[in-house]
Amino acid sequence: MKLNVLVLPGDGIGTEVTAEALKVLRETASLYGHQLVLSEGLLGGVAIHQTGMPFPDETRKLALEADATIMGAVGLPEFDNAPPEKRPERGLLEIRKALEVFANLRPVRSYKALLNSSPLKNHLVDGADMIIVRELTGGLYYGTPRGISGNGNEERAVNTMVYTRREIERVSHVAFQLARKRRKKVTSVDKSNVLENSQLWRKVVVEVASGYGDVQLDHLLVDNCAMQLVLSPKRFDVVLTENLFGDILSDEGAVLAGSIGMLPSASLGDKRPSGASVGLYEPVHGSAPDIAGQGKANPLGAIGSVAAMLEYSFGLTDEARAIYEATEEILNSGKVTADLKPEGKPASTAEVGDAVAKALSAYKAANSK
Ligand code: NAD
Repeated sequence: MKLNVLVLPGDGIGTEVTAEALKVLRETASLYGHQLVLSEGLLGGVAIHQTGMPFPDETRKLALEADATIMGAVGLPEFDNAPPEKRPERGLLEIRKALEVFANLRPVRSYKALLNSSPLKNHLVDGADMIIVRELTGGLYYGTPRGISGNGNEERAVNTMVYTRREIERVSHVAFQLARKRRKKVTSVDKSNVLENSQLWRKVVVEVASGYGDVQLDHLLVDNCAMQLVLSPKRFDVVLTENLFGDILSDEGAVLAGSIGMLPSASLGDKRPSGASVGLYEPVHGSAPDIAGQGKANPLGAIGSVAAMLEYSFGLTDEARAIYEATEEILNSGKVTADLKPEGKPASTAEVGDAVAKALSAYKAANSK
């Protein structure tokens, strides 16, 4: 298969973890016989330095041409006091909008070797494996009217939570299709006891569910879901929710994985004529200026984002599985970066990338006999 991928390393540890993610992608493509067509672009602080813009036109063009985009992270301390349109993070919002990636997928799973890194009791976390599907381009973050007006006691702030049937339908289809490839269960999260917005959400989700008779649907109110995520995380398979609720719940889910450096994410849009789903793949973490340039960054979230890309944009589930297995093997071997608190000397970012690539090749050899 031809894999037409744009790479945007970004700033700080973004460049370091992306180098390891590419190492693993190249190895996978070579082992499984895929043709990799890579282009590279500027995003974030590095783009501001070179072009004056966080999301230059050239990057926009490359992103619209690619089937999938791998991103590192953006953000540099020198821009902390810059106006919003001149900040690296603006590039992130602009590329999401340009690609119309409306469904954000955050897989959250526990790894046996990292059970002690989670603040939750081992027996609660062991075996947890869910995907949170968050609507990404609607709801409270984008609704109008919005703004602050008036003065003194009359000063008021307004945000609008708005969803259309179409917005709810398209993200619901993503969740149900994902569930079909997993344990066939969708939990839709809303606040329908209070919000009309959530009442429409629930009604449309139920309608979409009628087309997926093989998938079980249940509903949770968001406050109860927040509690169940830590009380009983194993009950979840696919969690479907709107933008604000998903933003909060997915960070709560992150504690299950042990370190922020472990977490991949995928943001999906509609399908391209090539059949690939438009997708933006990035680790959840930021540019971590405190450890940048020291070879300390954990690259496994970025490597997991490559696996997510192969699975969701290109439908290459065997290849994704191989990367997940290789990652698990590295975790079990203890050859991990300092954030995962290994017993011996921590491995460097590049050593972890090399080890995953090597384990991948051993996995392929063992599984093709
Ligand atoms: P951060 O995620 O960069 O770092 C938080 C803490 O986690 C730091 O102590 C860091 O060392 C550690 N950490 C993060 N990733 C790690 C990894 N892979 N391995 C080991 N340790 C890791 O968040 P922050 O410090 O709040 O933000 C730094 C910059 O990144 C800011 O400019 C912020 O705006 C930006 N940011 C960008 C993104 C993105 O590009 N998607 C996301 C979050 C923050």
